[in-house]
Amino acid sequence: MRGPAPVRWVLVTTRTPFSVNVRDLVGKPGEYREVELDVPAAEALGEGLVAVRAGTEVRLDVRLESVHEGILVTAEVDTTADGECGRCLREIALPVEVEFQELFGYHVGEAIEYGVQDDHVDLEPLVRDAVVLSLPFQPVCRPDCPGLDPETGLRLADHPELAAPEQHDPRWAALAGFTASTDEGSGDEPDADHRK
Ligand SMILES: [Zn+2]
Repeated sequence: MRGPAPVRWVLVTTRTPFSVNVRDLVGKPGEYREVELDVPAAEALGEGLVAVRAGTEVRLDVRLESVHEGILVTAEVDTTADGECGRCLREIALPVEVEFQELFGYHVGEAIEYGVQDDHVDLEPLVRDAVVLSLPFQPVCRPDCPGLDPETGLRLADHPELAAPEQHDPRWAALAGFTASTDEGSGDEPDADHRK
């Protein structure tokens, strides 16, 4: 029912937008060059609550240095991750600034994972790893975000009246339960939490 399969070899020979031509530096140890790239992310970087979405501009400041073994790449990555606060679900945008350094060898071996190919270095996997590792697992809109009211689901930051003094912070309530369960004095008011 389907049409012919896509022609795979086209994909193999296509370089990523993060591929940089280093022909002028190959075999000339001591020489270096700096280059800036502004590339929209072809696909999302990261899968968590915040991620760099496809199409988001990714800026690279790259230093390319010719050494005996290959091309030493030092790069600063600048972009923005979008997503939501892990506590109150508000939409947030986080600046992402990460650096990496990697040697692209003329001969890939045990110590050299990345190679110079066709006079190019492809920074795409390094950009991806650096960005994804920098993304927070528990992003927050602000460090003291109070989250959602457990009963109404409203944002406590928008409805301070819901955060009445007698209400327990759910995080501390969990801790209190833990303390009570490890308390061996089973006689002292086990139902204290439920009285009111
Ligand atoms: Zn929040």
